[in-house]
Amino acid sequence: MLNRRNFLKTSAASLPLAAAIQTFNPASISAETIAVGARSGTDPKLIPLPARLAPVDPSSLPWQQNIRRVGQSNMTEHDPAVMNIEEWADYWHSAGADIVFISVTGILAFYPSKVPFHRHGKFLNGRDFFGECVAAARKRGMRVVARMSPDLNWGDALDAHPEWAMRDANGSVLLSPEESRLFRTCMFTSYMDDYVPAIMREINSLYHVDCFYTNGWPPIGSLPNCHCGICSKLPPSNTTAYWRAFNDRVLELWHKYDAIAKEKKSDSFFFANLGGNVRCGPNLDRLGKTAVWFQADNQGRTSDDPAVWGCSLQGRVCSAMMDGKFAANVSAAYSTGTVRWRNASKNPAEARMWLNETLASGMALYYHFIGSEAGFGEDRRWQKLGSDYFQWAKKHDAHLKPRRSLANIGVVMGQSTQLLYPAPAGAHAHDYMRETTHGIYATLLNGRFAFDFVHEDRLDLERISKYRALLLPNIAMLSDRQCQQIRDYVRSGGSIMASFETGLYDENLQRREEFALADLLGISKAGDVIGTNGNAYYDRIERSHPILDGFSNTNWLPGGQNRVPLKSVPDPVLTVVPGFVQYPPELAYPPASHTDEPAVVLRELGSSRLAYFPGDIERTFWLTGHGDLLRLLHNTIRWLTQDEAMTHVDGDGFLELFAWETTPGYAIHLLNYTNPNAHHGWLSAVYSLGPQNVSMTLPLGVKVKAVDLLRSGRTTPFRLEDSVLRFTIPRVDDYEVAAVTVG
Ligand SMILES: [Zn+2]
Repeated sequence: MLNRRNFLKTSAASLPLAAAIQTFNPASISAETIAVGARSGTDPKLIPLPARLAPVDPSSLPWQQNIRRVGQSNMTEHDPAVMNIEEWADYWHSAGADIVFISVTGILAFYPSKVPFHRHGKFLNGRDFFGECVAAARKRGMRVVARMSPDLNWGDALDAHPEWAMRDANGSVLLSPEESRLFRTCMFTSYMDDYVPAIMREINSLYHVDCFYTNGWPPIGSLPNCHCGICSKLPPSNTTAYWRAFNDRVLELWHKYDAIAKEKKSDSFFFANLGGNVRCGPNLDRLGKTAVWFQADNQGRTSDDPAVWGCSLQGRVCSAMMDGKFAANVSAAYSTGTVRWRNASKNPAEARMWLNETLASGMALYYHFIGSEAGFGEDRRWQKLGSDYFQWAKKHDAHLKPRRSLANIGVVMGQSTQLLYPAPAGAHAHDYMRETTHGIYATLLNGRFAFDFVHEDRLDLERISKYRALLLPNIAMLSDRQCQQIRDYVRSGGSIMASFETGLYDENLQRREEFALADLLGISKAGDVIGTNGNAYYDRIERSHPILDGFSNTNWLPGGQNRVPLKSVPDPVLTVVPGFVQYPPELAYPPASHTDEPAVVLRELGSSRLAYFPGDIERTFWLTGHGDLLRLLHNTIRWLTQDEAMTHVDGDGFLELFAWETTPGYAIHLLNYTNPNAHHGWLSAVYSLGPQNVSMTLPLGVKVKAVDLLRSGRTTPFRLEDSVLRFTIPRVDDYEVAAVTVG
């Protein structure tokens, strides 16, 4: 069959590229082919999968690790007047939900609470709505999460406890932006120490619930900025010192609430709302050692974070921090986005893709709608989609529950850089790092690389030695210890790719005079960051190298929007042609056509290969989509990994790949993003892909019984030759899972 690699090989061997393009369907040509020429070489070298993990008896696991489906009809103040509890419970039970969220809250009590300031909802009328819902769920064998919300309260509480409020720099109380009768509570005050525990203990005294959850706290994707009496004694918000104080407080409360949950039942626990993927508020390494349930409040795309892979990205973060403990992605059935409708169903194709990504990236399904007007919703279109999906997944739980990721590339997620890094002048810091993340993510997806995220605080050799290469996309903040861990990794044979300001700040955001990894990477800083005013800089090709495969008929390649100038190095591969005026065109030429400033620095140390790009190349690819940047990054990653892979999926289309070891065998998940709405808006239709050829080398002695395609519901033939398993997935609609059963 014709695919990109074969096409390029064919064209290299026999035809000028222009003729080849006319001969073959242009749709099969990737963006890389703007670089005229062909990538030489072969398919990646398949390295054997690791020896299979020992089996685990599911009954020996904590109960939450066997939860696969979570249901939530988020309850409104009006629901006690309108919701049909039997219909609600029947729906989630028949869908196959293992557990449901039921609202206790903290803003409005859904039961006759006696805790002071726990105001009864105005439609409660003395009724025990929470208790009735708990009973209906338990009668059907579903577990129950008691859902609280400690982030807001009313004026009477504020009058009695003015110290509970968040305040601005002028001392004014911070109010809910949508409902000014509600004030925002401060997480450092006795509101969290006294009020929340009082509610938890009241619930434990009255009901049988399985665990406790807080919505609305801790904050997602940013840190609080409060000037109350307590917070004004803390370091300023958005500093590393504040982040430490914030993390200490989050963990103090988390442990406190967890202990209260366990006062009644030792297998109960507490968990809180999380999300924000790589920009999660609490430190993910510290929290990952405590949390037993990661609640990924990552309900859908927004116009300022528009990539379709937003849920998968979150799943990769959860895998990096939870070490196999439970994680679920809250997928909204309602209409998420910058303009949102909390009580209207979203596009079915979009809702389904978010569920697909949840499973593919290793999380448990979680489906969410808000409000039950008219019994169980004025808009009920979301319900069949959810129950159909849950029921399909339930048939395949064993194959869909991952045990271990099969990837040989680790992408370092610099959480502190994401939260605190200032970004070059003129750029919005948060946007800058989001663009960087999407740049490396899109690069890896385009190249069909299997990869994991690795947290900056988890760079111990034992954890990262499984990766052939670590990628550091502008991981600006690195401690001396983290840098030493990276050196140890390279000394043990690992390869790295780093870019831009990686290691130019320490863990306290103190700027370094020199790159912390200067010795390892063979680089030295020659000045401050240079941005673009007009026409961005170019890379001049100085000599041939595998990272330049496929580039011909050009002396220049595009550089990045920003770069750190470097001192010269011997025998450079690419040098910088500095930027210049882009308008007027009369002045759009380089005053200096040749410099000795490196545009990439490459090293080989034993079996390790090191690449450093002084430009913000991943982000610039995200901003522009330039195929030369994509090709340069792909070539570099292949050079770093010596073109080794654990799984290879060959075929047309833009997709995201996950490969997992499972209890029955292996699962290859393919998410089809070949869609006009992959980068904006919502999916509204599916554009199916043709054959995808999968190959992987199994551990010695492992035999294959069957390869089942779980979405299309059929089996596919396979070949096993010298431990290399090969099979073809004939067609991928929105999603396919190839489940390999071994015996
Ligand atoms: Zn405060």
